[in-house]
Amino acid sequence: MPRGTRARKVRRLKLEGKNAIVTGSTKGIGYGFANALAREGANVAVVSRNGDDCERVAGELAQKYGVKAIACPADLTHIEQIECLVEVALGSFGKLDILVNNAGSAITKRAEEITERDWDRVLGLDLKAVFFCAQAAGKAMIEQKSGKIINIASMLGLVADKQVLPYCVAKGGVLQMTRALALEWAKHNIQVNAICPGYVVTPMNEAELNDERIGGRILKKVPMRRFGRVEDMTEACVFLASEGSGYMTGQQIVIDGGWISE
Ligand code: NAD
Repeated sequence: MPRGTRARKVRRLKLEGKNAIVTGSTKGIGYGFANALAREGANVAVVSRNGDDCERVAGELAQKYGVKAIACPADLTHIEQIECLVEVALGSFGKLDILVNNAGSAITKRAEEITERDWDRVLGLDLKAVFFCAQAAGKAMIEQKSGKIINIASMLGLVADKQVLPYCVAKGGVLQMTRALALEWAKHNIQVNAICPGYVVTPMNEAELNDERIGGRILKKVPMRRFGRVEDMTEACVFLASEGSGYMTGQQIVIDGGWISE
């Protein structure tokens, strides 16, 4: 092996000097992504609706990893707040390299009971906000001629489950959006990819998954017979944010304990 080859390979997954926005990063999977990116040296803008939570997590990241971390509170269901958060991040970092489009939520209801409000709530955050975050970040990335957008979809964007119809629709849409954006922005050197988690225990679903009856029923369908952990998701995000995935776009990484293979 020529001298220096090994060091170059290792650096390809490092993120020193990169600047990232991670939406929904005060808890759950997004908190894990923010930590993993900061651990690899990226500066991180922490986003959720709660300003105190954002400040707390930003302070933690700065202290643990010695990176620049800023609090960018925003309700992503308001497009003007999305534009504002990208402006704040750009103002603070000077450049934007990575967007992790992670914030999302679900409603568990039978199809015949879903109201217009339920539909708008889930689609508003899980699909519409994902696009407008990508658009706001993408405008800066187009000017810079580089960028990485990582959309957090779900295995339920690929296969359906009962009583989460709007969520399945939104996540399927996120995967199609990932492909469409990847095609349009390939010429700008922007790679757009997605991660499809299976069931991961987080504040979003811990009551359900820890419930013996509901959690037990779901667990029987997981070939690996365990729920995902946040740390099962994080390294795929580091890979997709890094130069290591430089020739990969419009794709999805499924991390589901084998669910969709059955
Ligand atoms: P979570 O509920 O634990 O965390 C969601 C985060 O998004 C929080 O930080 C919350 O404050 C933020 N958020 C919610 N609404 C917001 C809004 N309007 N504006 C700004 N921020 C908002 O969720 P999670 O389980 O960590 O899920 C993260 C992502 O992973 C979601 O897109 C989810 O659909 C996806 N996912 C989760 C699972 C799972 O089993 N947990 C499985 C597949 C996909």
